[in-house]
Amino acid sequence: MTLYTILVNPESALKTVSHPVDQVDKIVQAQMQNMLETMYEAPGIGLAANQINILNRVLVMDLADVSGGENKTPICMANPEIIFESEERSVWEEGCLSLPENFAEVERPAIVRVKYLDETNTMQEGKFEGLASHCVQHEIDHLDGIVFTDHLSRLRKNIILRKVAKIKKDMDIL
Ligand SMILES: [Zn+2]
Repeated sequence: MTLYTILVNPESALKTVSHPVDQVDKIVQAQMQNMLETMYEAPGIGLAANQINILNRVLVMDLADVSGGENKTPICMANPEIIFESEERSVWEEGCLSLPENFAEVERPAIVRVKYLDETNTMQEGKFEGLASHCVQHEIDHLDGIVFTDHLSRLRKNIILRKVAKIKKDMDIL
């Protein structure tokens, strides 16, 4: 098991559009497994590859903790693609491991369908709503170099980015 270091904003990798994987081979499988361990350790409910400075289109998520279940329910995706989004919108308070200790309400399509390659290199399609919908859209945003503050007003965004910059500075001093 390898725990990756999670990048804290600002970092160029967090602004980079990641490239698709050719297939989910053993190397990508190991990356997915290590990303899951890193996410559980953090703890978080989603993690995108560029948050650990790997610029491929891979993400992991697991909402088990917030839904009260003790059993892990990991989802691993490579090359995820939103193939449907509802006109209905949803607002959820989002946070991000790369923007620690800060949260804000983000509005997104309420329901999305996502096509992706799973950890066995099999094409899957899933429907996501509620928190899962926000989570998967948030992680796919990462793969396109977008963080959740990019959905906020400039004022709100700047407040959070300043707070995160201070947290990052304090982390570097320790
Ligand atoms: Zn995030």
